[in-house]
Amino acid sequence: MIFTPEKCSIRDQRMKPFIDPDELWKFINNTSSTRERIREIIAKSLSKARLTLEETAVLINASDPELIEEIKQGARTLKEKIYGNRIVLFAPLYVGNKCTNNCNYCGFRTGNKSAIRMTLSDEELIREVEALEDTGQKRLILVYGEHPDYSPEYIAHTVKVVYGVKKGNGEIRRVNINAAPLDIEGFRIVKESGIGTYQVFQETYHPEAYKWYHLGGKKRDYEYRLTSLDRAQEAGVDDVGIGALFGLYDWRFEVMSLVRHTNHFEACYDVGPHTVSFPRLQHASMIDMDKNYLVKDDEFVRLVAILRLAVPYTGMILTAREPVHVRREVMQFGVSQIDGGTKLELGTYSDKKEHNQDLNKEQFQINDSRSLNEIIDELLETGYLPSFCTSCYRMGRTGEHFMEFSVPGFIKRYCSPNAILTLSEYLSDYAPETTRQKGWQIIEKDLADLEKHHQDVDEIRRRIERIKQGERDLYF
Ligand code: SAM
Ligand code: SF4
Repeated sequence: MIFTPEKCSIRDQRMKPFIDPDELWKFINNTSSTRERIREIIAKSLSKARLTLEETAVLINASDPELIEEIKQGARTLKEKIYGNRIVLFAPLYVGNKCTNNCNYCGFRTGNKSAIRMTLSDEELIREVEALEDTGQKRLILVYGEHPDYSPEYIAHTVKVVYGVKKGNGEIRRVNINAAPLDIEGFRIVKESGIGTYQVFQETYHPEAYKWYHLGGKKRDYEYRLTSLDRAQEAGVDDVGIGALFGLYDWRFEVMSLVRHTNHFEACYDVGPHTVSFPRLQHASMIDMDKNYLVKDDEFVRLVAILRLAVPYTGMILTAREPVHVRREVMQFGVSQIDGGTKLELGTYSDKKEHNQDLNKEQFQINDSRSLNEIIDELLETGYLPSFCTSCYRMGRTGEHFMEFSVPGFIKRYCSPNAILTLSEYLSDYAPETTRQKGWQIIEKDLADLEKHHQDVDEIRRRIERIKQGERDLYF
């Protein structure tokens, strides 16, 4: 048994709120961190068990720099031992920024009268997807404001449009969604369009703090949002992404809550979230935020390492909100997916003009605006294996992160070979010569590693040859 779902309490009923702020604060305030205890907890995580709330609080309370270093080292070891050097790449695609909510941290809020509103037409959407395919993207997350125009039927329609766009060897093989919470029927409709993950971030899990920021619209209802991914599960969307917007409330409380949310899913659905996101608040048009809870770089690095250890089987997403140096650092702690070549202004992937960031057209400011190839090149330079794999989802192997983590040999049988094959496609179709050379070198190194671990690499080599001859979309 890899984990024992904690039947946390009576509150773990499907579609019932599960956050008790007093309980979480009690853990934070009454837990002390000794070196022995921290080592025990890291060892538990390395033995592939999800941490309890009490154990997470012990890690959170470690303030001695040496202990923090041990926690970071633990997260690094977990990443290396279990997940290896793959990083999955994706791009966000903003479909529409009309919004009836008034979240005071977001450039799209109703109160921001200087925001320029638009929704991509089907033709514009197709042009954007073609432009993304031309750079080599295979995985997108579609993003929408909350508005009656963006009904489940409309979201499902845009997903189908995106899957239908094929340009050259390009195609989108996995569409994820970040949109407003839906009711069960709405989730069913969107699921039928063939989505991968449905993400809803709670923003802040603290019910009082939630009220400070959500000043109008449906999103004011904390509980409706908190239980949204339960409704997704009820509708059969078992691939869900949770997240908190760090900077709205005490980061320690949010980390505890993300673990609590994970426990809740395990208790109710016997499955954890597919991914956890930890965006940090960025500057946006006309926002004037309280700076009390902003998370400093060193705290951010700590919290990513703690999350890695606390929920060791969950995919972790890091976005271009973060500057390059922070991305480089936290990637070592088990981030599994990053975006590349990101543009947040609607309609600009297909626009060849250079764009300076214009906050009236964007949800918030990003800090890493490098192209997809620049990011891939750097990943290769630093020994990572960039991957566009979408295999598990298409083979019906849901819960892939959990399988990667728990099924011995899964990564060597599926994830690494598929990363190699999708990188081979990228190198053949989109990479400039210098990146191509680095890419084939990493592939050779990874094949040699697989061989060392008794993995039969002949079939992978045969498939690479087939890709070089022009075949596409080969996977295990
Ligand atoms: N409108 C939907 C919603 O609110 O759930 C969907 C997507 S919203 C466009 C995506 C996420 O962006 C939000 O959940 C929030 O966490 C994040 N976000 C909003 N404003 C931000 C800011 N100023 N800095 C960083 N992230 C922000
Ligand atoms: Fe609208 Fe989402 Fe922005 Fe809130 S975070 S204003 S719901 S787009």
